[in-house]
Amino acid sequence: MFKQRKLEFDVVVVGGGSAGVAAAVGAANVGAKTLIVERNPYFGGAGTHSSVFSYCGFFAQAEPLQQVVGGVGAQFLEELSAIGPEIEPRRNPASGNVIVIADGEKSKYALDRLLLRAGVVPRLHCQVIGAQVQENRVVEIECVDHAGRLTVSADAFVDASGEADLTTLAGGAVRFGDDEGQVQAGTLVMRIGGVARDVPIVRELFTEAIQLGKQAGIDTLSKEKGMVLRLASGDILALFVDESVNGLDAASLTAAEMSARQQAWSYLDVFRRHVPGFESAYLIQTGPALGIRETRHVRGQYTLAGEDVLSGVRHLDAVARGGWPVEIHQPGAPAVYQQIRDKSYYDIPLRSLAVDGFSNLWCAGRIISCDAIAFASARVMGTAFATGHAAGVAAAQSTRFTHPDADLVRAELLRQGALV
Ligand SMILES: Cc1cc2nc3c(=O)[nH]c(=O)nc-3n(C[C@H](O)[C@H](O)[C@H](O)COP(=O)(O)OP(=O)(O)OC[C@H]3O[C@@H](n4cnc5c(N)ncnc54)[C@H](O)[C@@H]3O)c2cc1C
Repeated sequence: MFKQRKLEFDVVVVGGGSAGVAAAVGAANVGAKTLIVERNPYFGGAGTHSSVFSYCGFFAQAEPLQQVVGGVGAQFLEELSAIGPEIEPRRNPASGNVIVIADGEKSKYALDRLLLRAGVVPRLHCQVIGAQVQENRVVEIECVDHAGRLTVSADAFVDASGEADLTTLAGGAVRFGDDEGQVQAGTLVMRIGGVARDVPIVRELFTEAIQLGKQAGIDTLSKEKGMVLRLASGDILALFVDESVNGLDAASLTAAEMSARQQAWSYLDVFRRHVPGFESAYLIQTGPALGIRETRHVRGQYTLAGEDVLSGVRHLDAVARGGWPVEIHQPGAPAVYQQIRDKSYYDIPLRSLAVDGFSNLWCAGRIISCDAIAFASARVMGTAFATGHAAGVAAAQSTRFTHPDADLVRAELLRQGALV
């Protein structure tokens, strides 16, 4: 028989991706007894579990370099540098986009260190499967591991699950995809070895190779224009394998994972045949999981709109900044970008993190309340750190005040080094 287990915390964060870790550290820094629950064996979400190693959104496109995320996000970058070697923001000279590359192992370790230093109680290998609600408050969640069920009560909760699991389980309002129910493409990241360090990475050569493959009748190739990066290790990271997938549904995910692996081997084949220097290339790893860009969005007290993002809106209750352009991925098509005014940033208001209809439930990361265009910018990991940090602070403060006002949250975020 399984033993019934019950825990009590001030704040519980569901999901341990960029947003969840920032939320948990932010809440603990306020002094809240904080638990973070993650179903994977490590933290980092897509950054570790789907090998999304290029962190976007820490810097705007403006020149000179303009950092738009501080606080826990900046501590993460410092932690990566402390593990070494020092991280260097990389600007793409063509687009002006600035990214930070961090491989999955470093991210896992840096996130462990951040959480432990802040005094957060971590719970990996643990999935949230239920929520109890009284009036407008989540009072308890139900989790499962191999030992059985575990219930956790808390004064406040943050949904940083990427799929809005907690909000859905609590009966909150969510939307799947855009207004028509369409979601951005899922992509399986390929890590490729066996390419000498002096082989230049020229994106057009990959496109030509894929076109040659398609002309030769290989029908298991999707995107022709994708991102290719050289990692510090010398390995190549390639993002071409797109799938149309419902990231909530195991049947759809299973079909997409298997089809994506078939695609990955086809891509490797055409690269080996047609890209100079890739003759001995081999697949080090896919995934581990197919990357899911989009499923559900929470309905908050304010829906951040595409025009807010593109016009670089300012809000009095701003608690985070988004500095990454709108980036839309339709399955099999090249990414489409739209720029933020002045290549600068827009404000994200606290109301977009406050789950509508609840007084103690906050959302963070790629599920925050926004329309499809705003989502295409706010979803990136640097911005997820910023919204997570703000949601964690708001959750911790809502254990002390009926509903914290934005000035209080902003003051505490500033005390913790955030840029608001
Ligand atoms: C293929 C791909 C490429 C991308 N490229 C970039 C890029 O180059 N740069 C960039 O910055 N962003 C990129 N993104 C977007 C970015 O990775 C995500 O939007 C970002 O990771 C969102 O962070 P998050 O913390 O909200 O969610 P996630 O990273 O998805 O983390 C959510 C976490 O919650 C956990 N979880 C979910 N449900 C439960 C549950 N019920 N119980 C317990 N745990 C749960 C999950 O296991 C996961 O670890 C890309 C995304 C994809 C898929």
